[in-house]
Amino acid sequence: MNTTTPEPKVVLVTGASSGIGAAVAEHLAAIGHHVVAGARRVDRIADLVDKVRAAGGSIEGRALDVTDRADVEAFVAAAVDRHGRADVIVNNAGVMPLSRLDRLLVDEWDRMIDVNVRGLLHGIAAALPVFQRQGRGHFVTVASIGAHEVAASAAVYCGTKYAAWAITEGLRLEVDPSIRVTTVSPGVVESELATTITDPGAQQAMVTYRAESIPASAIAEAIAYAVEQPAGVDVNEMVIRPARQR
Ligand code: NDP
Repeated sequence: MNTTTPEPKVVLVTGASSGIGAAVAEHLAAIGHHVVAGARRVDRIADLVDKVRAAGGSIEGRALDVTDRADVEAFVAAAVDRHGRADVIVNNAGVMPLSRLDRLLVDEWDRMIDVNVRGLLHGIAAALPVFQRQGRGHFVTVASIGAHEVAASAAVYCGTKYAAWAITEGLRLEVDPSIRVTTVSPGVVESELATTITDPGAQQAMVTYRAESIPASAIAEAIAYAVEQPAGVDVNEMVIRPARQR
C-alpha cells in the first residue's frame, strides 16, 4: 500500500460495487484512507474488499440500498462505530435507464428519482448531523455532465442530475465552512451504467455516444484531489470528461 496521504480519512462510498464507486474505494484505500464501501450487490463488494485488503488497504464493505433511508443511516452509523468518526461521504450510487419520454417507462423514471435524488438526500440526511457534531466533514456528490446539459432520451436522468447539482450547491451555501462540499460531474466514463438501459433506441444511441470514454480511475483521482486539500480549501466543482467529448 502506498501510504502517501498525510492524514488518513474515513471515507464512505455509496454504489461501490462497480465503475466509479469501486475505483474511488480502491484508489482512496491505496493512498492510505479508511474506506467504507456499500452497494446492493454484496458479492461484488466482497470481491472489492478482498482486492483492497490484499493490496494492504483498509476497507469494510456493507450491503446498502440508498433508496432506504434507514439503511443509509445504518451505513453511516456503522462507519462511526468502527472508526469513531466519518470524514467524507461520496454519494455516488446512480442508475441511468435512458429512454424518450413518449416511451412512458414511468417505473424507470421513478427508479432514477429514487436512486439519484432520494438516495443522495438520504446520504446527506445521514451524514450531516455527524459532520455537524464533529465540526468537520466533506460531502462529495457524483453528478454528471447531464447536470449541465440535456440530451434527448435523457430528460429524466438529466433532471435527476440537475437536482443533484442544485441540492449539493444549496448544501454548500447552507453549511458551516468547516464542512466541505464538492460536486464532480463526469462525462463518459467506463462503467456498467449503460447496462441499466432497457429501451432499444436509447441502447443503440449509447453505442456511439459512449465509444469515447475515460477510465473510472480518472474520477477517483479527481475525488482524491478534493479530499486531500487542506481543511480551508473547498474544491466546489469539477467537470471531467474525455478530451474528445464536447
Ligand atoms: P455503475 O453502473 O458501474 O455503478 C453504479 C453503482 O450504483 C453500482 O455500484 C450500483 O451498485 C450502485 N447502485 C445502484 N442502485 C443502488 C441502490 N439502490 N443502492 C445502492 N447502490 C446502488 O455506473 P457508474 O460507476 O458510471 O455510476 C456511478 C455514478 O456516476 C452514478 O451516479 C452515475 O450517474 C454517475 N455518472 C457516470 C457516468 C459514466 O459515464 N459512467 C457519467 C456521469 C455520471 P448495486 O447495483 O450493486 O447496488
